[in-house]
Amino acid sequence: MSKNDFEEFQKQLQKMFGNVKAGGPFGFQPQAEPESSSEEVEEEPEEDIFEKIRTFNLKPKEIRDELDKFVIKQDEAKKVLSVAVCDHYNHVRRTIDGTDVLGDDYAKQNILVLGPTGVGKTYLLKCIAKIIGVPFVKADATKFSETGYVGRDVEDMVRDLVKTADGNVDLAEFGIVYIDEIDKLSNSGGSGGGKDVNGRGVQINLLKLMEEAEVSLKSQMDMMGQMEFLMDMNKSSKKKKQTINTRHILFIVSGAFSNLSELIQRRVSGSKIGFMADNSSSEDDYEYLRLVETPDLVNYGFEPEFIGRLPVRVACESLKSEDLKQILINSEGSILKQYVEDFSGYGIKFDIDESAMDRISQKAHSEQTGARGLMTVLERTFRSFKFELPSTQIDKFMVNAGTVDNPQECLAELLDANLDLQKETLKAEVDKFVERFSEEYGFTLKFNSNAIKALVAISIEKDKTIRAICEDKFKDFPYGLKLISENTNCRTFTVNKAVIDDPDKELSKWVVERFQKEDGSSNASKDSK
Ligand code: ADP
Repeated sequence: MSKNDFEEFQKQLQKMFGNVKAGGPFGFQPQAEPESSSEEVEEEPEEDIFEKIRTFNLKPKEIRDELDKFVIKQDEAKKVLSVAVCDHYNHVRRTIDGTDVLGDDYAKQNILVLGPTGVGKTYLLKCIAKIIGVPFVKADATKFSETGYVGRDVEDMVRDLVKTADGNVDLAEFGIVYIDEIDKLSNSGGSGGGKDVNGRGVQINLLKLMEEAEVSLKSQMDMMGQMEFLMDMNKSSKKKKQTINTRHILFIVSGAFSNLSELIQRRVSGSKIGFMADNSSSEDDYEYLRLVETPDLVNYGFEPEFIGRLPVRVACESLKSEDLKQILINSEGSILKQYVEDFSGYGIKFDIDESAMDRISQKAHSEQTGARGLMTVLERTFRSFKFELPSTQIDKFMVNAGTVDNPQECLAELLDANLDLQKETLKAEVDKFVERFSEEYGFTLKFNSNAIKALVAISIEKDKTIRAICEDKFKDFPYGLKLISENTNCRTFTVNKAVIDDPDKELSKWVVERFQKEDGSSNASKDSK
């Protein structure tokens, strides 16, 4: 919606709901009963949702141990996040209990995570949110605009948290908001940030949220939401919460911050080194990113006030080929498990050997997208197997380095070795077609052995299912057979190879024979061997 449309819409609303004044999510509040808008009466008592937070008593090391099951490496990040999260949710628990002594003096531990893509930043946070039992949302900083007229508004994230909490505002108020690609909001010096987005404006909006803000549950850009809001306001009895407070929401932001390590190296080395060598490795980057300080981020193009709201900082390391192998083998969330599940859905098992694991991780590493490379390589390896095998009788196969290098060839060999089995499957498909045809049209087709052989050969040669071939070849038969049966009472027809070769010609012959045979013989077609 453009700004003009939006203003027009506001005017229309004012006409419809004349008794409104500025103040609601669209800038309106009903004039009648103004005090009721601040009075928040919950629809239902929400006791159980806080159970997990109220009984939160995990120690940082326990959180770290839990994370170890899923996330490989990132020891420093696990440590820093575990401590920050324990501090935050212990504070939340005390606030809920009414035993908090700090009140407004509590400084929230919002977190900045630096590190390349695909190394487990999001995964760590999702795992943490699950352990604690709070809603979690992720957003990309590049999607935000200062006004929300173009792109999204930063407040949308907080509203998304309410959606993730199934509309439970109270629970959402203790959730985790994770914003990736925050480096793109830098005004200068960053990796080309701030072109389409007013980075500074978004930073300012974000810092208000990170501290404490009341966010309206209905977006100003959401017409239906605005209507609902006004309806709710005009209902006098049960009043729902109209805003969500961000005071206890934990904000975690992250980014790759390419080139930042260069700035840090310059600071650390003084004037001795001007720029990092071109061949600096990602391990070097990590070593410098770990040393990040506020002035580095300000030099990178961030507002000091914004960076000031992110007191906890930690870098995630890039993953080596060996780490990727560990992810495949040891992570409880390994993508390989998903493939095992996908195939087992068709009753197919596969064994994967060490050589395949090595090759997959090497290839994934060269993708330079962290663990995401594993998904790419596995998809490439298994793509055709997933497509072909479910339509065969093959229920197990082996994956080795050769399969990863040449999946297509290995699949062809597998199919070839199982050709006889495959022919049996295709024959069974012919029976299924006969069954469907009979159920749908009431005619029995009897395929002789030559006809079946011909269909199987076409299916293999043209790489088409028997179903598709038969549906095409016999598409005119229901009508033709009806004509014949009306005159002859014949409902069973023998299909020979000639029918498969030229179905239209044979069907025409059958119909013509009907006119020639006055005696109602059921032999509409003669078997030709
Ligand atoms: P990013 O660092 O860009 O946020 P993600 O956490 O989204 O990366 O990683 C993408 C996927 O790769 C995760 O869902 C997870 O399956 C896998 N992954 C990434 N890093 C790790 C890791 N260190 N340990 C285990 N799995 C990982």
